[in-house]
Amino acid sequence: MVYRATVEKFGGSILRNGEGFSKIINAIKTSHAQGDVIVVLSAVSGVTDRLISMAKKAEKGSHVEKEIDSLFQDHSQLINNFILDSEERKNATKTCKDFIEILYPLLDAVSRLKELTPRTLDYIAPFGEKLAIQILTHALKSAGVAAKAIDGEEVIKTNDNFGNAFPIFYECQRAFKEKILPMIKEGIIPVIAGFCGSTMKGITTTLGRGGSDFTATTIGAVWPADEIILWKDVTGLMSANPKIISNAEILEKVTYAEAAELAHFGAEVLHPRCLIPAKKKDIPITIKSFSSSTKGTIINNKPNEKEGIVKAIVALEDVAQITVAGEAMAGVPGVASEIFKLMAENLVNIVMISMGSSEVNVTFVVNLEDGERAVRVLKRSSNFGRVWTNVEMEDDVGVCAVVGEGMKFTPGVAGKVFSALGRAGVNIRTIAQGSSELNISFVISRKDIPKAIKAIHDATYLRTPHKKTK
Ligand code: ASP
Ligand code: MG
Repeated sequence: MVYRATVEKFGGSILRNGEGFSKIINAIKTSHAQGDVIVVLSAVSGVTDRLISMAKKAEKGSHVEKEIDSLFQDHSQLINNFILDSEERKNATKTCKDFIEILYPLLDAVSRLKELTPRTLDYIAPFGEKLAIQILTHALKSAGVAAKAIDGEEVIKTNDNFGNAFPIFYECQRAFKEKILPMIKEGIIPVIAGFCGSTMKGITTTLGRGGSDFTATTIGAVWPADEIILWKDVTGLMSANPKIISNAEILEKVTYAEAAELAHFGAEVLHPRCLIPAKKKDIPITIKSFSSSTKGTIINNKPNEKEGIVKAIVALEDVAQITVAGEAMAGVPGVASEIFKLMAENLVNIVMISMGSSEVNVTFVVNLEDGERAVRVLKRSSNFGRVWTNVEMEDDVGVCAVVGEGMKFTPGVAGKVFSALGRAGVNIRTIAQGSSELNISFVISRKDIPKAIKAIHDATYLRTPHKKTK
């Protein structure tokens, strides 16, 4: 038998009940029979949202003891429902209780101070992961499997960008060698809390929402693992949103680059940055679900020649398009940089950019919630929105992206995409294509999104493989 090193990350509603936890234990045992396994867990579903909402309520001065109590009730119910060994059941309840006890004074302090800094929120938000790893570790022990719970802080060393921290690869590698490897050599399965890490000074950070994917791929890359498996509620990445396209298919194989495009486009299946470490070390990621026996999606470096030019068509609905226009802008260096500097300073994330070569307008797309702020900032600045330039926002739009590595070096793809849209009567407001050629994005009326997705998904030419010119 060939030895395999596997990272398995479990998240979503599978963590909600004892039955789900039993499936997790079986999956871990299967992988363990073939080699070594490291487990990464996310919180029981809904728990992170609850913790964040408690913290926000406390910031307004409210008391949240009842919410903390109910969090404990839910976890202890989970423990009682499925940890068989009474000693382990007692231990699990005790450790969870100890963790919960920390939350009472902490959230009380937030409500007294009416202050919630990003740093404090990062300390509170990953408690769900910390409780989940305790439960699984005790359950594994109860099932006769040697396991140890590890807080994310111990291995995932990050910068201090609270709320969206980034792992420092070599520091993670060092911590991994020191803390995790010896455990694996002894045959103990590490069960790591996803989502959180710590700075070099030991202050807790989080990797952004959905960040336990990122924990899993970082661990996979530092080990290095042969495979990273992300168990989710969905079976894999899809060719389109199945709510819009009833015959949307699971994509069997996608490249890291394609998966990143899909993740950025709100597929909500993957943390967008989780692909970075896996790609760096070329470790395949498999997305799977317990609810389906299909293979799921494999993400690696190899383009799948058998699939169509266009792999998927995705959309972002809640966006606004902003146009800064004026003839005074043409030929003036620094205009674009000034616009985007203002956006950066005001924490407005840019989703898409388009500027024609006449240089008289710059159009960009932002998240809907940032739209008004972006316009205000531009209008108030000394350079825009006063005499010579005009700033306008359209908030009834959405962005669609057509994604696929097969578009590279295939002439005529853009033509076919836009004629499919033309036939469907969809008017295109703005277009952008990155030079990587694996994504064509365009802005249309929000109400036209389903029509646009359907038109492209149904276009046989785009969805079948073609010969490349290079
Ligand atoms: N529990 C965290 C969240 O809900 C991290 C994760 O699920 O991956 O964002
Ligand atoms: Mg999650």
